[in-house]
Amino acid sequence: MSNTPNTIVAMENAPAADPLMEILARQREEVHKNRIPDFERRRERLNRLRALILDHRDKLVAAVNEDFGGRSPSETEILELIPVLSAIRHARGHLKKWMKPKGRPVDIIFWPSRAELRHEPLGVVGIISPWNYPVNLALSPLCDALAAGNRVMIKPSELTPRTAEVLKELIGQYYEQSEVAVITGGPDVAARFSSLPFDHLFFTGSTAVGRKVALAAAENLVPTTLELGGKSPAILCNDFSVEEAAKTLSFGKFINSGQTCIAPDYVLAPKDKVEPLAEALLAQARKRYPDLSDEDYSAIISERHLSRLKAMVEADKAGGARVMTSGEAPEGKMAPTVMTHLPDDAAIMKEEIFGPVLPILGYDTLEQAADIVHQHGHPLALYAFTKDAGARETILNELISGGVTINGTLAHIAQESLPFGGVGPSGWGAYHGDAGFERFSHARSVFRVRGLRSIELFGPPWKGLAKRATEILMRR
Ligand code: NAD
Repeated sequence: MSNTPNTIVAMENAPAADPLMEILARQREEVHKNRIPDFERRRERLNRLRALILDHRDKLVAAVNEDFGGRSPSETEILELIPVLSAIRHARGHLKKWMKPKGRPVDIIFWPSRAELRHEPLGVVGIISPWNYPVNLALSPLCDALAAGNRVMIKPSELTPRTAEVLKELIGQYYEQSEVAVITGGPDVAARFSSLPFDHLFFTGSTAVGRKVALAAAENLVPTTLELGGKSPAILCNDFSVEEAAKTLSFGKFINSGQTCIAPDYVLAPKDKVEPLAEALLAQARKRYPDLSDEDYSAIISERHLSRLKAMVEADKAGGARVMTSGEAPEGKMAPTVMTHLPDDAAIMKEEIFGPVLPILGYDTLEQAADIVHQHGHPLALYAFTKDAGARETILNELISGGVTINGTLAHIAQESLPFGGVGPSGWGAYHGDAGFERFSHARSVFRVRGLRSIELFGPPWKGLAKRATEILMRR
């Protein structure tokens, strides 16, 4: 079989003996030998992923704990391992149906020909993953890419080096390098990785790096999925219980110490509810994390990230913000923090917080709340707390976001039946469940002519029957 255009670009651009290019070339060679792996092969690859996680649960948990300098094993199991296991279970259960060619209706003038859609593997997929959920965000897209029949190269984050090494070792044990390969290294390796001529490049990380990845991929016309971040708002409406909202907001915000892409970034509350909500949030935080030195409460990934968070809070405190914490955090951690009375131009509202700090802004009308959200670009997630159908629909109609949970936090990400992804500055493309299978597949149109090739009857010379047929078709 001949080279694909991507292979040709690669040969021209690649420095001699580039190890990344060599792995890509080996994987592509295998793609050419068996372009469309059958159901059994794909299911068997998914089974291996499941076994990898179940056989090495403790090793994965320990690696994440080491990288964070303190991350609760339960948190890692619930937010990293279980979501991947559930994605695998869902994919195995639906794969046969997803892989079946789907018949499509045919216009009457082409009868009795047949039209169908086939979802075929893309080939070799690159995955770049971040540090905040270093197992889930590498293996969950891997699950979808394998279900769709691809070969995969993964570049995990250098900020979680122990997890990256464990992933490399385990993937090496469970897969041939020509099936799945893990490449470790710093931003220089990541930059080189993103310039490879993959058939698709799937990136999870910050908007700033996402832009670089999209530019590098564009050089080779590699299509991308960008799973980015942003400031995801939560809107508390007048009719909703402050206590109930505080319960779910404290869960969604303080789990993994706020280092979650879809954590509520800030809350908009009716002005008279700002202070009661702040108190209720702190009370909930104390209940969930009575001792901040306990392993239940995650550390901040690095000293640099901790300093960034502290600097934003200190700058706004100096500007007049009220800053309240649920307790004293030991070294390496930051206490659950709630901020009210933000100064104009608050530092905490200028970028994604990505830590356990929750500012609450007061509003008079829902329109005012919506205006504040509009100032920050389309977010990855949106949370609204209301039992009023009118208010709910106003919020859904007014505001764009990647996904939404109403009257709760984070839950939409856990639905295999719902695509997960951003919109505009929070990213493009989505995965999970059938959306993931389709993301990593090429939807190929196949038209099979049967009976008369009717369209040719209407061709030139444009006289007689052809002319009359044109008139009929124009008036249909
Ligand atoms: P990051 O953008 O700093 O790093 C992500 C990955 O990009 C890492 O693997 C890194 O090695 C790689 N990288 C660094 N420089 C690169 C370059 N020049 N070219 C190509 N790759 C490069 O992000 P992070 O700090 O690891 O993660 C935090 C961000 O990720 C937050 O903004 C968060 O919202 C976002 N995030 C989004 C999702 C989602 O599903 N949408 C999930 C988790 C995190």
